[in-house]
Amino acid sequence: MRGLGVSPGVSIGPAQVSDAGEIAVPDYRLEPEGIAAETERFDAAVALSLKQLRKLKGKAGTLPNAAAEEVGYLLDAHLAMLSNSRLVRGVRRRITEERMNAERGVQLEIAQIGESFAAMADAYLRARIDDIRVVGARLLRNLTKTPYSALAQMPEGSIILAEELSPADTALMDPRRIAGFATVLGGADSHTAIMARALNLPAVLGVAGLLGGLKPDATVIIDGSAGVVVIDPAPATVARYEARRDVIAEERRQLGRLRRLPAVTRDGTEVLLQANLELPREVQQAINAGAQGLGLVRTEFLYMNRPDLPDEDEQYETYRQLIRGMEGKPITIRTLDIGGDKLAGPFAAHFENEGGNPALGLRAIRLVLKERRLLDAQLAAILRAGVEGPVRILLPMISSLSELRLVRDAMLQTVRRLKRRGVAIADPLPPLGVMIEVPGAALAADALAGEADFFSIGTNDLIQYTLAIDRGDEQVAHLYNPLHPAVLRLIQFAIEAALRARIPVGICGEMAGDPRFTALLLGLGIRDLSMAPGNIARVKQRIRSLDIIAASQRARAVMDQVDEGRIASLVDDFNDVA
Ligand code: PEP
Ligand code: MG
Repeated sequence: MRGLGVSPGVSIGPAQVSDAGEIAVPDYRLEPEGIAAETERFDAAVALSLKQLRKLKGKAGTLPNAAAEEVGYLLDAHLAMLSNSRLVRGVRRRITEERMNAERGVQLEIAQIGESFAAMADAYLRARIDDIRVVGARLLRNLTKTPYSALAQMPEGSIILAEELSPADTALMDPRRIAGFATVLGGADSHTAIMARALNLPAVLGVAGLLGGLKPDATVIIDGSAGVVVIDPAPATVARYEARRDVIAEERRQLGRLRRLPAVTRDGTEVLLQANLELPREVQQAINAGAQGLGLVRTEFLYMNRPDLPDEDEQYETYRQLIRGMEGKPITIRTLDIGGDKLAGPFAAHFENEGGNPALGLRAIRLVLKERRLLDAQLAAILRAGVEGPVRILLPMISSLSELRLVRDAMLQTVRRLKRRGVAIADPLPPLGVMIEVPGAALAADALAGEADFFSIGTNDLIQYTLAIDRGDEQVAHLYNPLHPAVLRLIQFAIEAALRARIPVGICGEMAGDPRFTALLLGLGIRDLSMAPGNIARVKQRIRSLDIIAASQRARAVMDQVDEGRIASLVDDFNDVA
């Protein structure tokens, strides 16, 4: 089966379907005044389940005919079970009449329907019991908002197959136990994909029909480079992929030799290569890969898979460990970027009533400016940790100068508060920079450059918002093109504004870690790239093979073009010869 190869490498192992995990079902009695809210909570879970099933059905339409029909019937059956069905009515009645919480109501109702089906003579109807249980599990997962907890305890060498995995689910995967994963839904630059690369887990997303007719413990091959999943492979196929796995391991060993060599072009231009960090355990990977610092610390990990918020002290301790772990190399901590496809546990309530467009909603800087205590705690923790080593503060999703000003005021207030309390803080204060990832910010880059201390270009969102392509949606993944002239012009515009204002400018989106784009980005004036640790060696190899003068000339030729195909050939031809 084919999908989007989002994290390279080959793994072979027994399949584990992730929603097989046990869901802890709470059981409590409602107060009479809580009944209306509980009914509403249950209805919201039903609505969400229906939405998920419709999305899966859309995806099933891309399967070959017979399979599309079969999967379509199955999903129709699941949809029917949630549309004013005996199940839904039964649970509502248990909530209102028996004052039972929704989860317990679902559990008992499913058990009761199961019993009545088991007594039926018709074998076809008896087989529907399984479908009802699957629908019940979906409802329970949506009600409890539990990630797939089983992911933390899978048997060693497992390959996870799932309908969809959130970045938080993925963060729970232990690469020593889990060999790789594949999902039905998800795009190549989704945060789940980024997390897979961070963990070095081969992964393929957006595989239609992945879960149809799967036998328990079937062997699965994941080829995250080619975007291929093979289920129940023949022995000869296994042997072929084992050989490929060995070749990839050897290539990685070869690249490892670059670790101590500088990132400098043939004509002597130095480039700063830093690592992006999703999870604290990557500090060691970053050091091993020869990263010169952490160019992007995504602090969302602090908020994932927990019901409460990390306080200032907990954050301070985490940042301090990161700074110490990096042995005096600079680190850039980005303030919380929750929202869009990065929903995290303690914020679920914020997003429950969100409209249909979370990528344009209360995400990132917008959320923390609304909930100021989040921003204040994070700024205080960073300022305090900055005593230990060089730190910069980076703001996500900035779309206008006023947001930067509000944050700077907040930072100065926090500084005064800490000083009054006699708490030691970074001196001088950390530089305050902005992500350029909203097209409006790129177009207003000259204004932002006047007040920001540095720029970091987030190409993942910049592409998403410029081209109106959901980065997490596999159905439009083929349109997600970093070489679209509109994207390149915005990048160029932002770089030039920064260079004119003499502030540092780097790239921390996924484009930075792809050697295909290295010559172009350097040619446009970039000297600072931050990427998944696993990409550093390959990008360094490309830099060491380059001539900066030739790269600048080629970048100019590229920027003169408006045709996407022509731009791609100019980029690829240059990579082939130079
Ligand atoms: C980006 O948008 O390019 C980026 C680096 O931020 P994130 O991927 O975390 O949204
Ligand atoms: Mg972003």
